[in-house]
Amino acid sequence: MDALKDKIHEVGRVLSEDVLKVDSFLNHQIDPQLMKEVGEEFANRYADEVITKVLTIESSGIAPATFLGLTIGAPVVFARKKKSLTLTNNTYTSQVYSFTKQETNDISVSRDFLSADDNVIIIDDFLANGEAVKGLVDIVKQSGAHLVGVGIVIEKGFQQGGKLLREQGLRIESLARIKSLKDGKVEFFEDGEF
Ligand code: 5GP
Repeated sequence: MDALKDKIHEVGRVLSEDVLKVDSFLNHQIDPQLMKEVGEEFANRYADEVITKVLTIESSGIAPATFLGLTIGAPVVFARKKKSLTLTNNTYTSQVYSFTKQETNDISVSRDFLSADDNVIIIDDFLANGEAVKGLVDIVKQSGAHLVGVGIVIEKGFQQGGKLLREQGLRIESLARIKSLKDGKVEFFEDGEF
């Protein structure tokens, strides 16, 4: 997706060979126009599927997931990382190791919002080692819902998550795939190259 890649080149900051900071449009401040286009692009790529629910994880997946939900007319559910007082035991729960925070979080989704009748798409901001997506896939499995596929805003293709998840047969659509963050520069895979 060219508008996304242009934005990453313009304002993304390479913090190390592993970590890209995109706080100004995705992870802290949100660019609603770009997120709207991101939501529409996910909808186009999955136009062949009927989706009844968009599932993401707080907090940075919520913006792209919501614009997809708005585009296709489906509700958006986000997994919570901390148990809320109002979230009782009526939950699906899994564990996610965070690549950037280097800690493990329990994530949970209320059973009220995901069931065996749903066709679910998982959306997240980044794909690195695939831990967040794996936790969300586990929650979809517990619910008995059908998993249509995964949509990722920025995939770091030099880390293993995308490869591992695709090998398991998951459909993963990434809007920008990074080949390398070496020498402080963002290099993308060309379309079709991987
Ligand atoms: P994974 O679970 O695939 O290892 O990592 C994905 C999660 O870690 C995403 O939800 C995202 O919040 C965070 N993450 C991983 N790599 C990066 C990165 O380079 N930059 C930012 N901003 N977040 C990242």
